Amino acid sequence: MNIAFIAHDKKKEDIVQFVSAYNHLFEKHELYSTGTTGKRIMEATNLSIHRFQSGPLGGDQQIGALIATNKMDLVLFFKDPLTAQPHEPDISALIRLCDVYSIPLATNMATAEVLVRGLNRGDFQWREIVRGERRMIDNE
Ligand code: PGA
Repeated sequence: MNIAFIAHDKKKEDIVQFVSAYNHLFEKHELYSTGTTGKRIMEATNLSIHRFQSGPLGGDQQIGALIATNKMDLVLFFKDPLTAQPHEPDISALIRLCDVYSIPLATNMATAEVLVRGLNRGDFQWREIVRGERRMIDNE
């Protein structure tokens, strides 16, 4: 599965702890992130992550582009609801695209926990079917 990690500054420590705890599970997947989030996770784990631009510089939109082309299967976005973000429009756009394409999205650690347990149980296999169908449509 293709999984994206994003965390606002005050949530970066949380996402590092979270990803470290599920390291054994995440290492089986293709991982993506916004710039600083990915840097922090890679410094704390042995995971290899494809890092995009930092969020405020377009990283959320780059991840959004993968959602729009049906290439992202799960988004773990540890949002900070108590701090104004300069790139709020990009954040809203990313969340909107998850809803447009029915991509599982967690915006806090409690939901992330449930989704990751589902991932471990094989609950995301439907994504392979959806991706396959999309490829067929694109090739028509
Ligand atoms: P960052 O971006 O990982 O580069 O800090 C996250 C964000 O604020 O969207």
